[in-house]
Amino acid sequence: MKTKETHKPCQGVWVFGDYRNYFQNRVTLQLIAKGRQLATKLKTEVMVLLLGDHVHQYAMEYVAHGADVVMVVDHPRLKDYHVEIYTRIVDQLVKHFRPEIFLAGATAFGREFFPRLAKRLSTGLSADCVSLEIDEQTGLLIQTTPAFGGELLADVVTPEHRPQMATVHPGIFSEIPHQHGAMGRIVYPEVAIVPDERVELIHSRPEQVHKGRLEEAPVVLVGGRGLGSGEKFQMLFEVAELLGGDVGATRPVIKAGWAENTRLLGQTGKSVKPKLLISIGTSGALQYTTGIQGAENIVAINRDPHAPIFKMADLGLVGDAKAILTLLLEKLRKRLQGKKEKRSGVPA
Ligand SMILES: Cc1cc2nc3c(=O)[nH]c(=O)nc-3n(C[C@H](O)[C@H](O)[C@H](O)COP(=O)(O)OP(=O)(O)OC[C@H]3O[C@@H](n4cnc5c(N)ncnc54)[C@H](O)[C@@H]3O)c2cc1C
Repeated sequence: MKTKETHKPCQGVWVFGDYRNYFQNRVTLQLIAKGRQLATKLKTEVMVLLLGDHVHQYAMEYVAHGADVVMVVDHPRLKDYHVEIYTRIVDQLVKHFRPEIFLAGATAFGREFFPRLAKRLSTGLSADCVSLEIDEQTGLLIQTTPAFGGELLADVVTPEHRPQMATVHPGIFSEIPHQHGAMGRIVYPEVAIVPDERVELIHSRPEQVHKGRLEEAPVVLVGGRGLGSGEKFQMLFEVAELLGGDVGATRPVIKAGWAENTRLLGQTGKSVKPKLLISIGTSGALQYTTGIQGAENIVAINRDPHAPIFKMADLGLVGDAKAILTLLLEKLRKRLQGKKEKRSGVPA
């Protein structure tokens, strides 16, 4: 394949197919859905680029979730992810096919891989975008991303260089449900798999995935710094159990060691979309609220009536976190007790 830049027009919305942890991390599917909307506006196609070894099953999945085309580079050398090999291959493909837009998940992988690729392609990259739209006048991709430490949202455009590249946090967009019988093309380009001599993978082991599946819990309680101690944070687990939910945390909580990293919500953590989210002792910083904006109902508890979290809450309770949690626990325990008595017909 010629990797020299040609002057054919750029077209197509590309999504990088990050299929590792497919069932835990649906960000590629979410990006295909968003890519479809963008491609429709640009009157072009959405294509997923997939690198790996024996990855045909994922190509079929991507078609079923809305991809028009899946470009597969299937080779034993691509079984494990090597940033240098991946960057060289994708660099060749992008220079040859010249996509207009290229998206990837803002996962640990996307955060390492996409900046390298953007540098190599001499184009711009907006990290951790929370919205992507097409400018009706210019046709440019408007990449909305938190800026200045999250104090404001900036709309970034890449007017001159291509592709327009962005990473998006998992959970921001919704995937298209699996469609049986969806039609798409799967193509296998010829590409040079240049061996990487500098890095050797000696051993790998899967990351322990948080058992509670925070992302799918119908009720999520989030504790912030305002809880004041690890002991008070533990109260959230009892409330969550009684409500059939799970527990998330803000960054200061993780830093203080009150909760493990897998519970972090926000720009650098997970995004959740529960029916009910109760945010306790959190100020409402943009980097955190990015991860909870998909919640159907938000209840905020904070002792400061001017805390920004109240601006996005459906219901706000001004008061001490521990006092409110203690009351809530009492009520929930009583309700549970009442249900038990009703079932057995005997007061316990
Ligand atoms: C690049 C970058 C990325 C980041 N990514 C993330 C991220 O992914 N997730 C994240 O969470 N943060 C992230 N942060 C940090 C973020 O900016 C905030 O600092 C953080 O979210 C604040 O957490 P908090 O609300 O728990 O703490 P604080 O901002 O300190 O708020 C504590 C709140 O508790 C209230 N309070 C205090 N005592 C009580 C009490 N007794 N009862 C009730 N309320 C009380 C206070 O009024 C206050 O509003 C990031 C920052 C940067 C710069």
